[in-house]
Amino acid sequence: MAKEFYDVVVVGGGNAALCAALAANEAGASVVVLERAPEAESGGNSRYTSGSLRFSYNSVDNLRAVLRDLSDAEIETMDFGTYPVEDFFDDMFRVTNYRTDPLLCEQLVTRSYDTAVWLASKGIRFIPRLAHAFQSEGRFKMSPGVVAEAIGGGEGLVARETEIAIKNGVTVRYSARVLSLNFDGHAVRGVRVKTGATISDIDAGAVVLACGGFEANLEWRTRYLGPQWDLVKVRGTRFNTGDGLRMALEIGAAPFGNWGGCHAVGWDSNAPEFGDLIVGTGYQKHSYPLGIMVNAEGRRFVDEGADLRHLTYAKYGHVILKQPGQFAWQIFDSKTISLLREDYRIKQVTKVKADTLDELARKLEGVNPNGFLDEVRRFNNAIQTDLPFSPAVRDGRATTGLDIPKSNWALKLDQPPFEAYQVGCGITFTFGGLRVEATTAQVIDLDLGAMPGLYAAGEMVGGIFCFNYPGGTGLTSGSVFGRIAGGAAAREALGGRAQQRAFA
Ligand SMILES: Cc1cc2nc3c(=O)[nH]c(=O)nc-3n(C[C@H](O)[C@H](O)[C@H](O)COP(=O)(O)OP(=O)(O)OC[C@H]3O[C@@H](n4cnc5c(N)ncnc54)[C@H](O)[C@@H]3O)c2cc1C
Repeated sequence: MAKEFYDVVVVGGGNAALCAALAANEAGASVVVLERAPEAESGGNSRYTSGSLRFSYNSVDNLRAVLRDLSDAEIETMDFGTYPVEDFFDDMFRVTNYRTDPLLCEQLVTRSYDTAVWLASKGIRFIPRLAHAFQSEGRFKMSPGVVAEAIGGGEGLVARETEIAIKNGVTVRYSARVLSLNFDGHAVRGVRVKTGATISDIDAGAVVLACGGFEANLEWRTRYLGPQWDLVKVRGTRFNTGDGLRMALEIGAAPFGNWGGCHAVGWDSNAPEFGDLIVGTGYQKHSYPLGIMVNAEGRRFVDEGADLRHLTYAKYGHVILKQPGQFAWQIFDSKTISLLREDYRIKQVTKVKADTLDELARKLEGVNPNGFLDEVRRFNNAIQTDLPFSPAVRDGRATTGLDIPKSNWALKLDQPPFEAYQVGCGITFTFGGLRVEATTAQVIDLDLGAMPGLYAAGEMVGGIFCFNYPGGTGLTSGSVFGRIAGGAAAREALGGRAQQRAFA
């Protein structure tokens, strides 16, 4: 049987892969998408998301090109703020401690808006992200930068991207696990793929790797992230086991970025081993800025109000993992219970409720009750009450005199009923990846030379995130670098084909 040939082979079936496929297709290349998961579980971590992505904009008029269905009457009820590129840069620099690679970060930030517009122009429909907006003065106040989400969330995003790709002639194969890259010592010429029980080779003008990090590989987690990372729950797909990273490193690609780091959050203690597409993001518990978190000793261990939720949540999973027993309880009283996100209302929740703090202390499984009561007393006494509580902005309502302060949204826990939610650590994705050239996403080898025929996108790109992550940037990174990689791979493949024809 003759070997198959595509101009561009895309490995993976999530957002980065599908953006690469759309861009390569747009550039005139023949494209096949090889997705390891069966169709029912396809779409990678992208499918588990809320479909929200971070991008810069200077005005509501900018947003109209992304939020195309928005009416003037609706706009009147919403406060989107603005998010100029400078603010996006600031957030990236701050959360990564200035360790984000400047060239990659520049592409991410400066191409975020036009990539969101590109997705909308392809047929992805976005709506305002109202679910997590706070009502203020009769308007929905949104978190600037993360104001749009795809209709149907991550599930809708992936389904629509796939539909558009197929409609435009891209071939999509499920249960197709790429095992290795076919490399002739100079260039990548294709892939070896296992489809069901059959192993075959597909030749290609170029290959885009967009097959995720190693978050679902327990052994690699322990090896690179460290002890205890074998114990965490995986928030998303079970298929991101580092295959793409391994096969690229095997042929000399350079690793890059924070291989010891990852995105990890507070995640229901009783969540399953891997993500559950029905519950989706429901196991996350992201309203901790409205209350306190205590460990087995009953002690607070982190500044719950250090910054806006979307700038702290991705690093607090690590902190929870370091606590005795690797768990924490989040505590709220009736003043904030009505403000808790929808994640707190799912059926599969580890929760206790009490009418007094003493009763709550007895119900917090694994927690020293006296330590807890003592901690709440100290916390309540340390709150400055002269500033109003305002959950939509950094309100500066802080504690004084505590070893671990609460810098914003500090409210006494004194009004029953009390509710508590137990969380452990849930890993989202790993930060370490491959070194790529920023403007083409072409993979770089250990001699720092570009590798002909090989590109990478999404979680596989190392060097963008370090220590922490601003919410909504994973999909943006996948879209920006997927689009870049797909376009560049197509140019290389079609250029090569034209050359071959000229020599024939
Ligand atoms: C619960 C959850 C919620 C999140 N919420 C958000 C959010 O709201 N906004 C946001 O920006 N980010 C969010 N993220 C992060 C975001 O999902 C990722 O950063 C982003 O989707 C990664 O895209 P990707 O295409 O690189 O990887 P993925 O979407 O994970 O795709 C990787 C693909 O590669 C496939 N694959 C793996 N190995 C192989 C192989 N050998 N051969 C072929 N295919 C292979 C997998 O099956 C998968 O389809 C969330 C993540 C999780 C888990």
